[in-house]
This record gives sequence, structure tokens and C-alpha cells, in this order.
Amino acid sequence: MTEPAPVHAEIDQFGEVSQVVLVIDDSIDVYRLLSARLQGEEFSLVGEQGGAEGIAVAKHEKPAVILLDLDMQGMDGFEVLRELKDDSATMHIPVMALSAMQSRQDKVTAFDLGATDYICKPFDLVELRVRMRSAVRLSVLLQMLSQRAQIDGLTGLFNRAHFDARWREEVSRCQRHGHKLSLAIIDIDRFKSVNDTYGHPAGDAVLRGIARVLRREIRASDLACRYGGEEFCVIMPDTTPEEADHVCDRVREALSEVIWPLHPERRVTMSVGLVGSDGEHSADSQAWLAQADRNLYQAKESGRNRIVRSLVSGGISKAA
Ligand code: GH3
Ligand code: MG
Ligand code: MG
Repeated sequence: MTEPAPVHAEIDQFGEVSQVVLVIDDSIDVYRLLSARLQGEEFSLVGEQGGAEGIAVAKHEKPAVILLDLDMQGMDGFEVLRELKDDSATMHIPVMALSAMQSRQDKVTAFDLGATDYICKPFDLVELRVRMRSAVRLSVLLQMLSQRAQIDGLTGLFNRAHFDARWREEVSRCQRHGHKLSLAIIDIDRFKSVNDTYGHPAGDAVLRGIARVLRREIRASDLACRYGGEEFCVIMPDTTPEEADHVCDRVREALSEVIWPLHPERRVTMSVGLVGSDGEHSADSQAWLAQADRNLYQAKESGRNRIVRSLVSGGISKAA
């Protein structure tokens, strides 16, 4: 049998593409054998001997592929498979079932539960290896596709869809744990006149330039997205509104200093609506956005090229 070439995944600048294969098998021998014989592959192996432990590692590690023994002591493989496919954090990870059971019904059940492959023990190592390579290759492509679907084509920043999902997560984390959190909505000042005066390509160059400024000036823990048109959002976890104000002011200042090759005589500025919490609030994700939007409107009304900030209002979520 000719083996397909190993996977060479690109690592996207916006996130890691996993090439880990998680082996969940109660026999340590299977893991030992596989790690000894699969050296030199592009993927790496992680092993867990219990079903519950395997599920926990899958949630945390987000492996490219899971190799799952169906006949385990304790929590059996079918149960593990069912749980993996029921959880949004793990449901997209391809699962290769591994089993000494040869019955047609077991195979049908495993595929019905969402397994992508079924390998019978004792397995042929060469065949297992090529099947794993092919599963990892497919998984890597799917991960890359899913990342691309969340990236804005013009600026390379995350897009609105990604922002919406991340923003909901950040707000509920902040509500649960009383973390600090800030959100900025950025809107370019008089952007329409850049388009009207210098043309649409010049406007596009400004949008790309703003993305560059954002990437350079915000911190690694902050997340910048293109919200739509000439609006951008920055999520700043663990950041008070005062601290966020400093970050935004750095961005504002840096943008106002950029000399644009297509119109060196015309500077570009931005206005920012900023809203944040020092830790205790019960505002939902939409309420945050509405308040940031109101602050942005005020920044525009009061002269542009400025930040208007407030504490998010919406009661106290935790006892002080
Ligand atoms: P304000 O200071 O009040 O924000 O004024 P403005 O001109 O920036 O606001 P307005 O909402 O009137 O105009 C936004 C402009 O952004 C209009 C639209 O054509 C332009 N725009 C939106 N998306 C793009 C894009 O992808 N490329 C370019 N070049 N222009 C875009
Ligand atoms: Mg606008
Ligand atoms: Mg604007």
C-alpha cells in the first residue's frame, strides 16, 4: 500500500491548528505501541486511559482527531462518544473508533453516534497510520476553513461573526466570575469623504492601515474585530475602563499620526465609544453594545477624534 504524504499544515496567524491525536484507551499498551511506531508523523499523540479523563482532555486540548477504544472498563466507549458528540466544544472533532468487537451492529451504532471511522483490533499498524494521517489531514483543513470563515477579507482582522460569538462568551464569563472587562467601538471620522475625495481604493487602504495600527497598539490579550463598514470593536478582557481608555488613546494617537501614501495631506482620525466594568454588573451582551454605541454617538457629537467612556450600567451581579 502506498502511504499518503504526511500533513504539512499552515499555522494561521490568528490561531493554532491542532495536529494532536488523542488516544483514549484503557490499555496503556495500545498508547505505548502507537507512540513508539508513529514517531516521525506530523501529528503528535496524547494518551488517556479513562473515558471521563479523555473527555476532559478533549475539551481542553481540542485535538485534531480522537482515537477511541469502544470496549473500556468503567465508562464505556459508546458513552464517551455520545458525550463528545453532545458537547459543542468537542462535537466537531473526528472520532475514530477502535474495537475488538466485529459485530455489524456495533459498527452501525458507532457511526450513528458520529464516529468517522471504525478500526478493528488487532489492527494493522500500517493501515491505522494511513487512516490517522488522512483523518488528521481532513481535520486540519476543516479547522483552517472554519478559521477563515471568521476572518475579514479586507483587513485580516476577525469578522463580525467571530466578534458576536466571542463577545457573548466574554460577557457571560465576566458575569459568572466578576472579572473586569471593557469594550470599545471605534468609528472612523468623516470616512465617507476619504472615499469621495480620493476614491474607494484609498478608503480600503485606510481600513487596512487601521487594522495594522490596532494589531500594533493593542495587547496580546485584547481582541480586535472589524465590526462592519468602517467600524471596529476591541474586546479587552481583565481590563478596567480606565485601563482600556489608555489602550484606546494609544490607538487614537497612533492613527492620527499616520501619513497615508495615497493622500499624505489628509490625516485620519477615529472616535471611540468605550464601556467597561470593574467586575460587578448584570448587563447582557446587547446592553453593553448599546451603551458603547451611545458613547460613540456622543464622541461624534462632541467633536470627533476622542473617546467617551462610561461604566456599564445594569445592576450588581454578585454580592460585594
Ligand atoms: P462620521 O464621522 O459621522 O462617522 O462620518 P463617516 O463619513 O465616517 O460616516 P458615514 O457612516 O456617513 O460613512 C461611512 C462610509 O464608510 C460610507 C461607506 O461607503 C464607507 N465604507 C464602508 N465599508 C467600506 C469599505 O469596505 N471600503 C471603503 N472604501 N469604504 C467603506
Ligand atoms: Mg459608521
Ligand atoms: Mg464614520
